[in-house]
Amino acid sequence: METGLRNRVAIVAASSQGIGRAAAQAFAAEGCQVAMCARNKPPLQQAAETIKQQYNVPVLAEAFDVTDAGAVCDFVKSVVARFGSVDICVTNAGGPPAKGFLATNHDDWRKALDQNFLSTVYFAHEVIPHMQAKRWGRIITITSITTKQPVPDLVLSNAVRAAVVGLVKSLANEFGKDGILVNNVAPGYTATDRLKELAKSRSAATHKSEKDIYDAWAMDSALKRVGQPEEVADTIVWLASERASFITGQTILVDGGAYKGL
Ligand code: NAD
Repeated sequence: METGLRNRVAIVAASSQGIGRAAAQAFAAEGCQVAMCARNKPPLQQAAETIKQQYNVPVLAEAFDVTDAGAVCDFVKSVVARFGSVDICVTNAGGPPAKGFLATNHDDWRKALDQNFLSTVYFAHEVIPHMQAKRWGRIITITSITTKQPVPDLVLSNAVRAAVVGLVKSLANEFGKDGILVNNVAPGYTATDRLKELAKSRSAATHKSEKDIYDAWAMDSALKRVGQPEEVADTIVWLASERASFITGQTILVDGGAYKGL
């Protein structure tokens, strides 16, 4: 399948590991110029160097926290200075902690909003004018199956991710006329460090083994397994490609059939 992505400039936020890293790698495999970020410099540099060597494409990597609006602005400026523009922006960040409602405090809610909602606002603000100038752009948010089906003990994600979906739909409507497509990718249980952390906290709360918790997640999906980060990344690349040119404002679940609704 010809994706038409060669030489496109793709930002992938929060990409030193997990789904973000897999997405950065998948864009590099398509011949994109890739810009990566994450909070911790050493793992980010290592991921960037590996991708650069493996695919022989230019990779820019800067360490910062996506909750810092000024840092997001500076990063997008660096990307434009290095690559000339921005074509694709994948917004991503770590997930909020697993908690039931009464275990949360106001600080948890503010952090979840900063990390999983406002970071998307910051990136969208910075990249949209560049995409408007080219009359071509793709913004893809990474959220969660919680946008369709609340997950027990993930009340922060269940509530805050819905705001991202509202933003995605609004941006899709407002900027479709400029050739900018905005979509949301919602992973189900995917084998990353985030899932290991969740298994650990569930195991501590329920006294079940981490393996039993993984097995239950797998059995919950139609495909009877958890996903791989590369499977989410392939969906992200497809949405960014010319092969998905009439899709905007949508949430695409990559969950192996875990969502039970119609
Ligand atoms: P992960 O923990 O493996 O990786 C998260 C990445 O984000 C890392 O590179 C980390 O350095 C970076 N990061 C975290 N907070 C950041 C911040 N504030 N600023 C900059 N970088 C930051 O997570 P993952 O499993 O790849 O998940 C990615 C997203 O998908 C998360 O929001 C997660 O909640 C969501 N999600 C994951 C699953 C799953 O099963 N793995 C399921 C549904 C949704």
